Amino acid sequence: MNIYLYTDEEGVAGVDWWDHRTSTHPFDIARCQRARELLMGEVNAAAEGAFAAGAQHVLAVEGHNTSFVYELADPRLEIVTGRGYPEWIPEIDSGFTAAFVIGAHAMYGTPGATLAHAFNYEQQRQWNLCGRKVGEFGAFAAICGVHGVPVIMGSGDDKFCAEARALLPGIETAQVKKGIGLHCARHLSTKCAREKIRETAQRAVAKLAKSKPEIYRPSGPPYVFRLKMNEQQNPILRSGVELRAISDTEIELRGDDLLAVIGSGASY
Ligand SMILES: [Zn+2]
Repeated sequence: MNIYLYTDEEGVAGVDWWDHRTSTHPFDIARCQRARELLMGEVNAAAEGAFAAGAQHVLAVEGHNTSFVYELADPRLEIVTGRGYPEWIPEIDSGFTAAFVIGAHAMYGTPGATLAHAFNYEQQRQWNLCGRKVGEFGAFAAICGVHGVPVIMGSGDDKFCAEARALLPGIETAQVKKGIGLHCARHLSTKCAREKIRETAQRAVAKLAKSKPEIYRPSGPPYVFRLKMNEQQNPILRSGVELRAISDTEIELRGDDLLAVIGSGASY
């Protein structure tokens, strides 16, 4: 069993602030480092659960720029880090049995959700994939689905967990905090959050032996991805993808290749 362990940072327990990673203020630098260390603890907890349930290989992927502390990773993990990935979701392929997402957050505009956004909060990005409102999680699950990989486990706040279960009812979720506002949350302790993630990951992988998990497949072709934000959008269109402007700030991408459609939408 081969697990693709994707990560973000805003859904980690203990984190309720944006990652000001370009700031040189000592307070911001310290806070960035804390978030990274908290994330690594949750990544390792998820990996531990997966290995305990029989996974042979886990690939941990840094989904949030410069959020990994490489040397803190469980030694059994293989790790993807860096900038300028050729694809938003790098190194995913049909060789993976299942995927996890750790430290995930709800879509932009979710009431009460901690740090809810898509890619960039300031841009107020709102997505609709094939008739369904999605955030980063939905787009991630769709990409995994193209490769035949089910997303079986996710962790984050209660709003993220609800969003994930609404899309994939069989997914195992570890709620590590309750969103009480955009910049605040009611967190589990580090120890409890990690324990919950470990148990949830173990349960999700163990379930694979008993039942076939659902794979998210948006309706199509053609696949239609509507993207709205508060400024003009200039995606780099992949081959076979057509763009139609709906307004100054809303566009529609359409094509028969779902990866190309989402890839174009995630290109800027
Ligand atoms: Zn994110």
